[in-house]
Amino acid sequence: MNDTIQLNNGVTMPRLGLGVFRAPRGEATQQAVREALLAGYRHIDTARVYGNELDVGDAVRESGVPREEVFITTKLWNEDQGYDQALRAFESSRRRIGFDYVDLYLLHWPVPEKRLDSWRALERIVSEGGARAIGVSNFMNRHLEELLLTASVVPAVNQIEVSPFLQQRATRALCTSRGIVVAAYSPLTKGKRLDHPVVDEIARAVQRTPAQVLLRWGLQQELVVLPKSTRPERIRQNGAIFDFELDAEAMQRLDALEEGLVTGWDPSMVP
Ligand code: NDP
Repeated sequence: MNDTIQLNNGVTMPRLGLGVFRAPRGEATQQAVREALLAGYRHIDTARVYGNELDVGDAVRESGVPREEVFITTKLWNEDQGYDQALRAFESSRRRIGFDYVDLYLLHWPVPEKRLDSWRALERIVSEGGARAIGVSNFMNRHLEELLLTASVVPAVNQIEVSPFLQQRATRALCTSRGIVVAAYSPLTKGKRLDHPVVDEIARAVQRTPAQVLLRWGLQQELVVLPKSTRPERIRQNGAIFDFELDAEAMQRLDALEEGLVTGWDPSMVP
């Protein structure tokens, strides 16, 4: 559970994080975060648009786990993009979470015309210590190539949708070549492929659940994985992925499941 990956600026990031997208604000999110911390998670993935930054901060504070042991990510929402707006939006996020710094601040989406100015704001935020690392989300190769032409800080992370059913090989290859860690969102396909026969068969063979098989595939692909659940039993289950391994044959069978399945929004058409 304490498996971490080193980012390109030396900061370490836990390989497993709890996602809180669509976790209702208030007690539901707080309880999920508390359960996750109790189960050993040390990484929470929120965003301004999820409306639960405040609950994440409160739950971490109340958990008794020291702040510096928890990796907190939040994201700049689209309507806040632009240099000055981004600086202001960051301050609001930081205030809502209620700590001096966040561990990772991401551009949530490659908003045309604004993303480069927004990135300059993130560069300032990291240089001033507001965030320990900065990165992007939903950046495909054209967005990354454009950014890398002018950026003075190379993004530490690109958070994109990845599962065996959407492997994003081209984007992952570019990220790897530039030292950008890929974090996989919707690693459980939002539940849409948990009953796939191949996943089910592998799960039976290793005596694990389909969700654990998908997450383990992600770890063995060198990804950071961000499963979401608000149910204690599933939060624990999704965390129990560090004590077994998928063999080469199982990995190959999962690798063969690519079908371009996008379960959320699709950035590939964004100019
Ligand atoms: P996931 O692939 O994590 O799937 C979540 C769904 O699966 C929920 O319905 C959950 O239900 C269910 N589930 C969780 N665990 C299990 C289990 N063990 N067995 C069966 N069902 C399970 O989808 P998300 O889209 O939520 O992605 C995860 C996180 O990634 C988000 O919370 C967010 O932090 C991030 N994200 C980022 C995006 C971006 O643009 N940057 C976009 C989308 C997500 P229940 O809660 O009832 O258990």
